[in-house]
Order: sequence, then C-alpha cells, then structure tokens
Amino acid sequence: MAKKKNYAFDTIVVHGNKSTGHDHGATLPPIFQNAAFTHKSAESLSRTFSGATDEPIYTRLGNPTNHALEKRLTELEGGKGAIAMASGMAAIANTCMALLRTGDEFVAGRSLFMSTYVLFTSVFKKYGITARLAAPLDSSGIKAAINDRTRFVYLETIGNPAMDVPDIRHISKTAHDYGIPLIVDNTLATPFLCRPLELGADVVIHSTTKYLGGHGASVGGAVIVGDSFEWDKKRFPDFEPFVQRKGSLALIDKIWREHHINFGTTQSPMDAYLTLLGINTLSLRMERHFANAIKVANFLKGHPKVKWVNYPGLENSPSHATAVKQFGKKGFGALLTFGLADQDTCFRFIDNLKLILNIANLGDCRTMAIHPYSTQYVSFDEATRRNLSITPDMIRLSVGIENPSDICDDIAHALEE
Ligand SMILES: *Cc1c(COP(=O)(O)O)cnc(C)c1O
Repeated sequence: MAKKKNYAFDTIVVHGNKSTGHDHGATLPPIFQNAAFTHKSAESLSRTFSGATDEPIYTRLGNPTNHALEKRLTELEGGKGAIAMASGMAAIANTCMALLRTGDEFVAGRSLFMSTYVLFTSVFKKYGITARLAAPLDSSGIKAAINDRTRFVYLETIGNPAMDVPDIRHISKTAHDYGIPLIVDNTLATPFLCRPLELGADVVIHSTTKYLGGHGASVGGAVIVGDSFEWDKKRFPDFEPFVQRKGSLALIDKIWREHHINFGTTQSPMDAYLTLLGINTLSLRMERHFANAIKVANFLKGHPKVKWVNYPGLENSPSHATAVKQFGKKGFGALLTFGLADQDTCFRFIDNLKLILNIANLGDCRTMAIHPYSTQYVSFDEATRRNLSITPDMIRLSVGIENPSDICDDIAHALEE
C-alpha cells in the first residue's frame, strides 16, 4: 500500500473512488440498481436494523452506490457525514425541516434560488414557521433578524440571480454568537472554489444536478455536515436523543431518521453514479468555467448594447472584495446576469442565439441563457420581483466550457440583429 499523503484537491477529485474490495477493483463503484439486499441470517438483519452494522437493507434507507457519493462529497467538502438525496430541493427541505418545529424562525440571506425562496416564504408558512430574509452582504441585517426562536442562518455562497457573495466566516461568527448553526448552499461555488465548513459553516448543501454532475445528465442533491457545532439543550431540546445516539453527528442522524427515509427522498443509484463520474473532472471543468466567465463578463461590459453586467469577478460588483478574500485566485463562479434595453430585446437576443442554449438550468458544461423575469419568476408579483432584483431587462447566463471566442461570437451576433 502506498504511503498516505495529503494530496491536493485536484488529485483527490480524480482519485477519490477507492475500490471497496467487493467490486473487483473497479475505478468507479458499481451501480447497485436494486431495491433490497439479502442477509445471511435473521440475526444479521436484526443487528443491521438496530444500527450495529451498516450493511445495506433497502435502497430508500441507503444504497452502496449512493454511499460512495456520500463519502466522496464528505471528503471534497471536508465534512464528517453526508446524505445524498433525490434533488437539491430535497436536501434543502429535509435539512431545514429537521431543524424546525412549528413556531420556530430562521434567518436567510435574501438572495435565494427560486424554489428555495418559495419553500421558505410560502410552504413553511403553512406550518407556522417564519423565514426572516435579510440582506446577506452585511451581517448586521442578519444579526438584527435573530431572536430566541431562531434555529439557524441560511446563505448561498453566490446568490442566484443577485450574484452576491456573503462573507461566510463573518456570518458564521454572528450565528455562533447566538448558539445557532450556519447552513450554506454551495451549489454555485462547488468545493473547488469554496469550502464553507472550513470558513465556519456547519452544514453544506448541494444541488449535484449542477456543476458536481456537470453534464446535465442527472438530478440530485446532498447535505454534508461538519462536527463542531454543539447542540445547546435549551435552544435545541429536540436534538437530545440524536446527540445521545450520534454525538456531534446528531443533525445528519435527525435528517436521515426523521425526514429523509420517511419522506422517501432517495436518490437513484444511477444518478449517484453519474455524479461520481462527473466529479472526476470537476477541477478541470471549474477552471475552464471560471476562465470563460471572466472573459464573457469583460466582453459584455465592453459591448455598447449591454446596459449593465453583474458578476462578482468584475470590480464594480459590491461583492468583489469579499469574493477575492473568500475565493482567492481560483475564480468567481460561472453565472452572471446582464441587462439589455427591455424584455423584447432580451427575447430577440435569446431567439438569435445559435450556440448558447435557451434552457432553465445552470452549471451544465454547455453555455445557457434564460430570461428569469418571464420564466422562473413569471408567477411572482411585481413587488417581489423588484425586491429580488428580477427585472424585465435581465438575461442570466451560465457560462460553459466551450471555446470562449465561440461563446462571445454567439453573443455578439445575437446582439446585432
Ligand atoms: C438548482 C439549485 C437548487 C435546487 O436543486 P435541484 O437539484 O434542482 O432540486 C438549489 N440551490 C441552488 C443554488 C441551485 O442552483
């Protein structure tokens, strides 16, 4: 056996799948596409049910291919445990619900993925739960929204589509001052760009549908937890049995036991496999995504028909300084928004594109454009859209890994007509 070394992230993404000894040395785990697993004896199955072994039982409860993805994501985020789930939204919903009871509150940065916004502000409301939204760039708004009922603070590493970058280290200190954990949706950054647990966050969430899978081939999500948060008995009395059972991994146990297995938010093993396949090229893809995004942002900035560009990599972004501090030299993500004259001009632009796809997704290797005002946010009232900076003149671009000149040429051509 080779001596264990602390390899760089770029090496780990390529070599992380180690053979388990049951798979003939396969470099990727087998796809265990089956619902249930046989056991040698009644005693063995009973021991597994009581938690004495972690042999697979039934795929809704756990599956070896999914476990391989969970191990992989735990390693990449520097966490202590993870659960793969059916989608990013499943991971968000289960994690938040494991933390919330009727009457509870939480504080979230205002810049939220559209379905997360709906879940927080309207679905949770039905259960008597209050989401207090605050401007994420400055921890004073978040601090002011915290009270005795607050159970956690929630942020996105790069807000979509506001493109704002909150200071995770700073906000985690604020949350911890009040004895509450910080949850970060790290989908847009990926652990290549940012590892929130190292910056003080306690929980990381991913939609693996995006950059981790990388090819638009699968839908999936995951929650990854650290082990440093202490569940205070006064604020979190309902965590007691989980702390007794799993100690510092109480939250992952609570998410799994109370919500994930009972809501049936299992990820398909085939999707877990496809995500594991995508992860092997994560570093390479992210480098290209980020290099292309800054080129496209600068190209748009210099174009006479483009009214404004919002990208944390540009110096005029209110998030630029925090992004530089938090992300170092690696990049600024690959999602950006820009403004044209009006909605009609945006529609003409999208219809003129020949290479860039008109598609409601992001983080795919292909460049994609969408007009958020008339699509994801079409059923939102005007005041909410304004509040979320969703304007009729806005195009959102998810910059892919094509040759950057071809991306810019397609944009130039679509702006001409
Ligand atoms: C896509 C996305 C989600 C939801 O993920 P699904 O896999 O589509 O359920 C959550 N957060 C962010 C930031 C996303 O981009």
